[in-house]
Amino acid sequence: MRWNLPNSRVPEAWFNVVPHLPAPLEPPLHPGTREPVGPDDLAPLFPMALIAQEVSADPWIDVPGAVLDVLKLWRPTPLVRASRLEEALGTPARIYYKDESVSPAGSHKPNTAVPQAFFNKLEGVERLTTETGAGQWGSALCFATALFGQECKVYMVRASYNQKPYRRVMMETWGGSVVPSPVDDPEHPGSLGTAISDAVRDAATREDTHYSLGSVLNHVLLHQTVIGLEAKEQLAMAGEERPDIVIGCCGGGSNLGGIALPFVPDPEVELLAVEPASCPTLTEGRYEYDFGDTAGMTPLLSMYTLGHDFIPPSIHAGGLRYHGDAPIICNLVKHGRMRATAYPQGKVFEAAVQFARSQGTIPAPETSHAIRAVIDEALAAKEDGRPKVILFNYSGHGLLDLSAYDDHLHGRLIDA
Ligand SMILES: *Cc1c(COP(=O)(O)O)cnc(C)c1O
Repeated sequence: MRWNLPNSRVPEAWFNVVPHLPAPLEPPLHPGTREPVGPDDLAPLFPMALIAQEVSADPWIDVPGAVLDVLKLWRPTPLVRASRLEEALGTPARIYYKDESVSPAGSHKPNTAVPQAFFNKLEGVERLTTETGAGQWGSALCFATALFGQECKVYMVRASYNQKPYRRVMMETWGGSVVPSPVDDPEHPGSLGTAISDAVRDAATREDTHYSLGSVLNHVLLHQTVIGLEAKEQLAMAGEERPDIVIGCCGGGSNLGGIALPFVPDPEVELLAVEPASCPTLTEGRYEYDFGDTAGMTPLLSMYTLGHDFIPPSIHAGGLRYHGDAPIICNLVKHGRMRATAYPQGKVFEAAVQFARSQGTIPAPETSHAIRAVIDEALAAKEDGRPKVILFNYSGHGLLDLSAYDDHLHGRLIDA
């Protein structure tokens, strides 16, 4: 029921989906001039190696040895067949998941935190800034910078900073320093958009500092493709020719891209993005150029967006709250290569509990969006009597999100 690959099978090159997209990507625009941004515009924030990856059309990009050495602390991750969930559902579908919760930070995010810290180190950058919501990305980057001996300053959405201390403690354990955002307005609950503004401002105004983003950008999705590449090999070990459908939850699009992008060239494989009904970027957003942050300091990206000042309703507990999405994911959805769906949080937590009571592990609320869609696909396969092969990304564990489970179990979670 589990397929493990040896350490030596961590992919040695990342898969670049750009040559396989249904339409060319539209370039990011400079926030002032609205002209396409060049490498020089990005150089104050990112190392040249990552800027090159951001615009690369090469089909494969080598993973440096020093990055492989760190990834091997937990990769390859297991491919697991959720046979007890299949049994509980009485479905003929075969459900497989890639278990990204086994990383040190407990999610897929270190897959990009490690190369981002490394390429900065290579250019002599000893200090990074970033934003974090509940702390998943901040903890991944603090883990990575600790291993390369760099400083990390994390701007954390104030509401989470006040309510969710444990991820802050993880970040501090790895040597990071964490402050609530927005820094200049102690009454404001903050959002990912305000935290990005704070982190970008810090990096742009200091010579010794670069900025690091945990999702959305092309190079982030590129780094995450180790997930799908390993999954392909493991599915073959399990005797499957291909998945009929690949499912991932979508906040900024990185874990979804990581598992789905290597399957884009195969037209037989259906791709599905799952998002919260209270932050419905792909299903209800407008497709247009918008800023990545609230203050309008980042380049404009061509994407589905709810508007850069969007803040999800305060009752929303399940993460995935970014106003935009990765331009690569938006391109696939816009041109019909990927489908998107949205669920209210009550149905998401019901799926999470059903998973925990059959498979045992407690998924992150974000991951549970994917699980909701997996269960619905498996039930549809039962109706059709079709042994569909479903692959999904188990993007992280929920052991630091138990207050949201508590609210669900005791009737305090409401749907907007
Ligand atoms: C951050 C996070 C997500 C959402 O981010 P994406 O970039 O859309 O992947 C999903 N699941 C977990 C566990 C996360 O930590």
